Amino acid sequence: MIGVTVLGSTGSVGVSTLDVLDRHRDRFRVVALTANRDYRRMAEQCRLHQPDVAVMVDAGAAVQLRALLSDMPGCPEILSGAGGLDQVAAMPEAQYVMAAIVGAAGLPPTLAAARAGKRLLLANKESLVVAGALLMRAMDESGAELLPIDSEHNAIFQCLPPNFAEGLPSVGVERILLTASGGPLRDWPLDRLALVTPEQACAHPTWSMGRKISVDSATMMNKGLEVIEACWLFGTDTDRIQVVVHPQSVIHSLVQYQDGSVLAQLGNPDMRTPIAHALGWPGRLDAGVAALDLFEVAHLDFEQPDLERFPCLGLAVQAARQGGTAPVILNAANEVAVAAFLDRRIDLSGIAAIVDGALESLPSEPVDGQDLAFLLEVDRRARQRAEQLVRMRVN
Ligand code: NDP
Repeated sequence: MIGVTVLGSTGSVGVSTLDVLDRHRDRFRVVALTANRDYRRMAEQCRLHQPDVAVMVDAGAAVQLRALLSDMPGCPEILSGAGGLDQVAAMPEAQYVMAAIVGAAGLPPTLAAARAGKRLLLANKESLVVAGALLMRAMDESGAELLPIDSEHNAIFQCLPPNFAEGLPSVGVERILLTASGGPLRDWPLDRLALVTPEQACAHPTWSMGRKISVDSATMMNKGLEVIEACWLFGTDTDRIQVVVHPQSVIHSLVQYQDGSVLAQLGNPDMRTPIAHALGWPGRLDAGVAALDLFEVAHLDFEQPDLERFPCLGLAVQAARQGGTAPVILNAANEVAVAAFLDRRIDLSGIAAIVDGALESLPSEPVDGQDLAFLLEVDRRARQRAEQLVRMRVN
């Protein structure tokens, strides 16, 4: 039996992961589950999956969970606080760790899993954006395995040869074609973008996801974060990555080779496919996903991304090129701005303005040889600056 810990089990990716694990109870055992506040869903998950440990970051939620599970035979040990996340990420009972916490809050336990030499199933793209160098070094030193869960990166991983780490040019790769649905606002009149509500921004046409990544998809910041993620995962720079808008979300990404071949991975837009791929790799597992019906799909469309409509994509690519702490600042400011948009404090166009303002006012510093504490301090300062910019926009 392979032990699996799911960080962020109550979220969209966490729930899909537990669905796949449930289909393969003969092969996987749930070791630990974690959440922030949603103790009701955590209680249901504990009864169904019987983990050894459950972590609620919020102390009040941990108290509620203990009360809800007081009658459960074999009740899991319940920990609270962010320290509990690092603890379960490194537990020897789990060989695999799914990193599915949203935002930079997922970085410390993701790093702990990498340092402990786990198979890391990485959904939490913000970890690589904030600490790509640190995380990749930790993986190398511990011998951990990194399997991408983002559907695009998982597709690219599937289309690359096994020795891609030798360098993309030396294995014959010309370009990575990173697909993007364009989100719910691809066709909105430009002059009405400022009126978009959180509900409209979260109504993604093809994917069902958590609220933060849904807003990131609406602004295409998500694709920008994914460009940075791809640079770290596949050892390349932004010049070798082309974003392609593909509204049907059936081709999850492509790899173009020097001989003119283009390999793609296709499938229905369902996160259980990349999750099952990463759990089963190098084998294949049933994911519970319906087979792709090409006759029903019928058409596949492709467009250039529109950087006037989606300035966040341009800002992210610029931060990737700049390097140093620029991606840390970009990510932190974006998290603050997205939360302010979801709270109806700013309009959608404010997100790009706040990210831009934070990048303008905070200089990028080198990250070589820096540790987690340094990156978290840069993250804290960028959040503080972004909060000021939100307040200036509101007043
Ligand atoms: P959700 O918002 O649905 O879930 C987030 C999870 O993280 C929940 O379990 C939540 O707990 C927990 N969490 C939130 N804040 C904290 C915190 N401060 N400390 C610890 N845990 C916390 O997110 P998604 O599942 O949509 O996304 C998760 C990650 O996967 C993101 O990085 C996203 O970019 C990435 N991803 C998501 C995809 C998707 O289809 N959803 C696709 C590809 C990548 P609680 O429920 O208690 O709040």
